[in-house]
Amino acid sequence: MPTIRVAAYGGGMSVTSLPTHDTGTEETFDSLNPATSEVIGTHPIQSEAEVRAAVERAKVAAATWRGLGFAGRREMLDNWKRYLVAHIDDITALLSLEGGKRAGEAHMELIMSLDHLAWAAKNAKKILGRHKVPAGLLMANNKAYLEYQPLGVIGVIGPWNFPVFTPMGSIAYALAAGNAVVFKPSEYTPGVGRWLAESFASANPQYADVFQVVTGKGETGAALCRSGVDKLAFTGSTNTGKRVMATCAETLTPVIVEAGGKDAFIVDEDVNVAEAAEAALWAGMFNAGQACVGTERVYVHEKVFDSFVTEIVEQARGLRASGDPDAQIGPITMPSQKNVIREHLEDAIEKGATLMIGGPDMIDEHFVQPTILTHVPEDSLEMTDETFGPTLAINPVSSMEEAIERANGTRYGLASTVFSKHRGMEIAGEMRAGMTAVNQYLSYAGVPSLPFGGVGESGFGRIHGADGLKEFTYAHAITDRKFKAPLPLTTFNRTARTERLADKLMRFLYGR
Ligand code: NDP
Repeated sequence: MPTIRVAAYGGGMSVTSLPTHDTGTEETFDSLNPATSEVIGTHPIQSEAEVRAAVERAKVAAATWRGLGFAGRREMLDNWKRYLVAHIDDITALLSLEGGKRAGEAHMELIMSLDHLAWAAKNAKKILGRHKVPAGLLMANNKAYLEYQPLGVIGVIGPWNFPVFTPMGSIAYALAAGNAVVFKPSEYTPGVGRWLAESFASANPQYADVFQVVTGKGETGAALCRSGVDKLAFTGSTNTGKRVMATCAETLTPVIVEAGGKDAFIVDEDVNVAEAAEAALWAGMFNAGQACVGTERVYVHEKVFDSFVTEIVEQARGLRASGDPDAQIGPITMPSQKNVIREHLEDAIEKGATLMIGGPDMIDEHFVQPTILTHVPEDSLEMTDETFGPTLAINPVSSMEEAIERANGTRYGLASTVFSKHRGMEIAGEMRAGMTAVNQYLSYAGVPSLPFGGVGESGFGRIHGADGLKEFTYAHAITDRKFKAPLPLTTFNRTARTERLADKLMRFLYGR
């Protein structure tokens, strides 16, 4: 049995009680408090054999789970939802301890996750259940039906930055659609992943194998890709997404890739500048800027550029990154990311950007102070690559057309924000992105009926909404003959008259 040493996770449930289905793993890894580097948990590095064993158990469980039908699964998912609400303080404390999240942001992450879980459970039958579709003239003697069947076992690989909300976008929807799930959390947030699985098992003990967690590093994730899962839902960086896709190709395992972004925030000349600045500041700095849909580039109409910059810098002066629970900005969770942030800032300044607040000198062992740059060259790393820190690059534009062109001038295409009193929806229609919020940052992520995902190097496939449910199913088309075909074409006994009639019908319908 591997040693699972666990410090107090916020006074909540201990992860030592997890059913690990031990197969003799000796190797372990530590999870750390990113604000102090203190070890807070030790978890097994699960081998390829252990991952396969988990998937085999999930296959068995999937059959029972599928057999529950939509109503039965909804009941179990509602049990889980109630359990999560009852233990919300435990999981939010763990999110803060292991992920470095501010308490308020951890709470927001849970609330949004619960909303999606509730929506998926409630709407799965309506969206995926068998329903009639028009049979068309040629097959008028049939009734036609469409239904969406679960794929079986879904492998989910998640990142550390939203270790509940992001994987839940796949887990909740895959489960509601009738699949079992094996989840590999990031090596930076294994405790959160295991807590999630334990909470499902606690709420539904008889279905513990329906949602399992395997822990480890990249190799454990790669093992999950090769394990025989029916689909793999990956969320993480674009580079790892490419590796995951290549590994999944070995077994022709279909894959969803929810990858990184370089999101833009557009500010028109007719906005309330203080309001737009407040929204852009949070969009760039919440979760210490470690958000796939975090704003990294801001394009502001030149007529309000100076006042916008004055306002946002003034507001940013009130922010502080520290381990102190009152600080608005927490630590950088993945230590190596600080080097990326520093490199991007230094490159931008060297190429001519103006540093308004913060900067590369304001980066220490655990924290990056809020940083704002203006007039940042479009070819600098700060404008081209994902920075993933509490930094904002703000550039003036002479028109909204220029703003759109620059915002779209990225190989990514995850989300975008538009602040404009009169042209919001028009500008939104021009954005090359999977999601756009008009006059309020991030709102699309809180609407469970809207799909979430990107284009270009931000990936493909969708979580959330009807599209998100369908991602974890295959479409099953059914026809049911009600009476003999008036024009029997699918027989060797068809007559020349039947063929003539069919020909006439075709010309009448489509030849005009
Ligand atoms: P990574 O790409 O580093 O890791 C993501 C996951 O993949 C982790 O669980 C990681 O495991 C695993 N992994 C690493 N190597 C392999 C491999 N060879 N095969 C299979 N799995 C592997 O991303 P981060 O965890 O650093 O997350 C941040 C990134 O995620 C950012 O780019 C962000 O934009 C993106 N993201 C995208 C979202 C979206 O919905 N589009 C939402 C949230 C984040 P381990 O950690 O153990 O190495």
